[in-house]
Amino acid sequence: MKEARFYTPTEDGAECRLCPHRCRIKDGGRGLCRSRECRNGKLYALSYGKPCALAIDPVEKKPLNHFMPGTHCLSLSCTGCNLSCRWCQNSDISQVEPEQVESGEWSPEELVNAARRNGLPSIAYTYTEPFTWWEYMFDIAVLAREKGLKNILVSAGYVEKEPLHELLPYLDAANIDIKAMDDAIYRKYCGASLAPVLENILMMHEAGVHVEITNLLVTDLNDSEPQVSALCRWMVDGGLQDVPLHFSRFFPRHRFTDVGPTPKSTLLKARDIAYSLGLKTIHLGNI
Ligand code: SF4
Repeated sequence: MKEARFYTPTEDGAECRLCPHRCRIKDGGRGLCRSRECRNGKLYALSYGKPCALAIDPVEKKPLNHFMPGTHCLSLSCTGCNLSCRWCQNSDISQVEPEQVESGEWSPEELVNAARRNGLPSIAYTYTEPFTWWEYMFDIAVLAREKGLKNILVSAGYVEKEPLHELLPYLDAANIDIKAMDDAIYRKYCGASLAPVLENILMMHEAGVHVEITNLLVTDLNDSEPQVSALCRWMVDGGLQDVPLHFSRFFPRHRFTDVGPTPKSTLLKARDIAYSLGLKTIHLGNI
């Protein structure tokens, strides 16, 4: 447990300034992401140093198809997410309290040493929402950079500007998941909002981070032609036509078990739309 950055003490607890939810947390309470707790007016990052998942993955699995292709990365995760997507593919570690999952104890130094010992050129912050364990990610990223390793972020991009800005100099690549080009879907199905995500993608791209975007096409929810076109148009208008876009196939998970997998034809059609609107690089995932 480590004292959190980005919070303001309040009369009866603390206001977290890490993500746009801006949770006002009373003493003894936790934020929406379940990973920050207020004790005696101070906010703490509960899962600091306690990864619940640690693996060696091909970088393409992140997915990043155009950043150090053919290499592997040390992938790590702590519990917590500030979104609540009903189709979450990792809900067993993202939508739980830290105490509900078995975790190891790894200092940033031990993790960076493990990556180097295994000859891995990069570390990926992934599986859950890394911004909800910002302090741990940041400390590892600074050390990794010092030792010549690359830092990879896999995220939904729902974070405030200040913590993102502070992390940016250490970030080499990111895959950001856009849930839908529809704020109503974000609010109803993910418990978040669209605008900060889009702003943050542009901010990362402008800072020179290698960005790829993922869009999970959920059957009959966000897979319509207008939705796909809106995403592609936004990318082209924002100068992101060279940014690789991954359309990913949905499979029933979590609270969306009565929805069928995305038809393959939907993904092929999305790819056609994206190319026709001027995007350069499209990948189809989970097929
Ligand atoms: S990071 Fe967690 S505690 Fe902080 S505002 Fe976001 S959801 Fe709330």
